[in-house]
Amino acid sequence: MKIEKHRLVKNGSRFDMRYRESPNRGGALKPRFLIMHYTAGIGAGGAISWLCDPQAKASAHFVIDRETGAVTQLVDGNRVAWHAGQSEWNGLQGLNQFSIGIELDNAGKLRREGGKWVNWAKRVIPDEEVIEMTHKHESSPAGWHTYSAVQIESALEVALALHAAYRFEDILGHEDVSRGRKSDPGPAFPLTSFVARVLGRM
Ligand SMILES: [Zn+2]
Repeated sequence: MKIEKHRLVKNGSRFDMRYRESPNRGGALKPRFLIMHYTAGIGAGGAISWLCDPQAKASAHFVIDRETGAVTQLVDGNRVAWHAGQSEWNGLQGLNQFSIGIELDNAGKLRREGGKWVNWAKRVIPDEEVIEMTHKHESSPAGWHTYSAVQIESALEVALALHAAYRFEDILGHEDVSRGRKSDPGPAFPLTSFVARVLGRM
């Protein structure tokens, strides 16, 4: 993968890549950070439709499918997308103005209901796709939808291509810039090793 004119191109990658422009975007962006999210949703297709719906007033630069690792770009890398909302990092307010956002298709935080794991939308997640962990900013364990190996591999490729183009100062979780309000990408995502691999801090 590679960024050309602020759009991701395949450049020999095995992952599918699509561009679908979202109307939910702002002005010019010079990305300094990459922010990782989960959709908490109902599949990549549903997330993409929602993030392209003007009523959503939300978007991200990229959505990555959990099953296939397929990547859909919704906003050019030099335009503001609406993924972080109220947020703060190192004295900066409103991280949308400073960052690229990747949404990982994932059901997010789960709870037990009727002997099954369900998310906020009552979507049932099979037991083998759930890990019980305590979020770094929380005090008790919950269920979390796991990320698939192909999805993490694809996200790494996307992040490496973006870093080559934009030279990020850091890669952050939404949970870190909107502390207490957001819990994505959550403990099921290997954020520390992901950041080390992309920024070369191993
Ligand atoms: Zn988020």
